[in-house]
Amino acid sequence: MIKTELIFLGPPACGKGTQTARLAEHLHFPHIDTGSLLRNEINNATEAGIEAKKFIDKGNLVPVELVSRIIKNRLAKEDCKSGYILDGFPRSLEQAEQLTKINAELDKNVKADFKAIYFDINPSILIDRIVNRRSCKDCGEIYNLLFKAPQKEGICDKCGGKLAQRKDDTREVAQARFDTYDRETAPLVEYYTKQGALKSINANGTIEEVWQRLLDVIG
Ligand code: AMP
Repeated sequence: MIKTELIFLGPPACGKGTQTARLAEHLHFPHIDTGSLLRNEINNATEAGIEAKKFIDKGNLVPVELVSRIIKNRLAKEDCKSGYILDGFPRSLEQAEQLTKINAELDKNVKADFKAIYFDINPSILIDRIVNRRSCKDCGEIYNLLFKAPQKEGICDKCGGKLAQRKDDTREVAQARFDTYDRETAPLVEYYTKQGALKSINANGTIEEVWQRLLDVIG
């Protein structure tokens, strides 16, 4: 058996969350989204959550030890045995090195097919996307008032739950998140290109157009 390891790179609001959730259902792999894992910790007021909140509220990365520990515990679970979809980790060169170590430890007796998929997008549209983003408090479904509005204002089409805006989806925090992305995460594109692991997709377009391009690179 070959284990499928897919990680996703791209700036905030590039569409990764929507596409990776769909891909996870399509391939029957778990969708591991570090932002949601961290927000769960915050909602449960765990020690990790209280620490993480200080960084998230400012648009900075949470410390590498904290996020690596959460990811390692999650990737060690039984449901990741044949593959996983990792959305939002790694987000820095240091985290990429951590992931290599975690995979090496967990994959001692398996062959893995590792791909880093980069969502290449025109950044000028992204701030407007961010401030119009809403998500379901119950099932996590993501909406956008610009191009994927719910049928009933404030209510999830899928489960009827209440929609909310993320606290860090304001213009001010979003700008800080873009700066963090440029400084910490963007260098990973070159890093994975050099390793021969990078697949780039044009992420400009409708959800359906990007989905088709994603399926093409997954093969
Ligand atoms: P996201 O939901 O992916 O936009 O992530 C929201 C916030 O969670 C980010 O702005 C960071 O503060 C934090 N975060 C998510 N993933 C990571 C990560 N891999 N490393 C550090 N911080 C992260």
